Amino acid sequence: MIIVFMGPPGAGKGTQAQILQENLQIPKLSTGDMLRAAITAGSEVGKKAEALMKNGDLVPDEVVVGIIKERIIQADCATGFILDGFPRTINQAQALDKMLKDNNLIVDKVICLDVNPDIIVARQAGRRIASKSGCVYHVEHNPPKVPGKCDVSGEDLIQRDDDKEDVVRHRLEIYADTVKPILEYYESQSLLHNVKGTSSVEAVKTEILSIINQK
Ligand code: ADP
Ligand code: ADP
Repeated sequence: MIIVFMGPPGAGKGTQAQILQENLQIPKLSTGDMLRAAITAGSEVGKKAEALMKNGDLVPDEVVVGIIKERIIQADCATGFILDGFPRTINQAQALDKMLKDNNLIVDKVICLDVNPDIIVARQAGRRIASKSGCVYHVEHNPPKVPGKCDVSGEDLIQRDDDKEDVVRHRLEIYADTVKPILEYYESQSLLHNVKGTSSVEAVKTEILSIINQK
């Protein structure tokens, strides 16, 4: 099962991908998490990505395609995986299909979460993340059991540099400028499922699971 999550920054992709990963027992591959880990590690990829991410700009296609290509051949991806934050350009969508085809695989379902920009800015301001476990929280809407600590790993939660309002608005503009051809691409293959992302985490989860369980 190969599932792609789409939607603007803050739509809930990471939150829902994390829930689905536990439900389906297949890994969530988040290019944002992988790039943040590369920055922390000080790798070549991290050096290429750091300034771009801080400003809310996209990292070059060849960098993210390279990361995904290496990741999907790992043993834990053998029965499937969930893509969160990739593809973000039509070039990435085509590169994904090519790498899947080389392994006799195809994308099974694309879930696009829809949330309007004002809600997103408010959500991002309250977002807190756990970089080791990949869990995502919100100080009001989805708080951890112990304030400031991850429920799963116990690590300290952090606020992302790029979650400031001006950077969030810039990321939303980039999304609006790049998303249309990708959605058309998946729509034309009847893979696209739109889900309203403004209901509760639980209600969005239920809708996504019913889509995943459809034939
Ligand atoms: P969000 O969850 O808010 O959508 P992500 O964690 O997915 O944000 O991504 C954070 C940043 O990482 C993006 O603003 C971009 O700079 C970079 N990034 C992540 N995925 C990609 C990608 N597929 N292509 C290009 N840049 C990416
Ligand atoms: P994305 O990966 O699309 O950028 P996240 O999953 O990181 O989005 O969610 C962004 C913020 O919104 C987080 O703080 C998260 O806890 C919160 N959030 C996610 N889904 C919902 C929801 N359905 N209702 C309210 N807040 C949510």
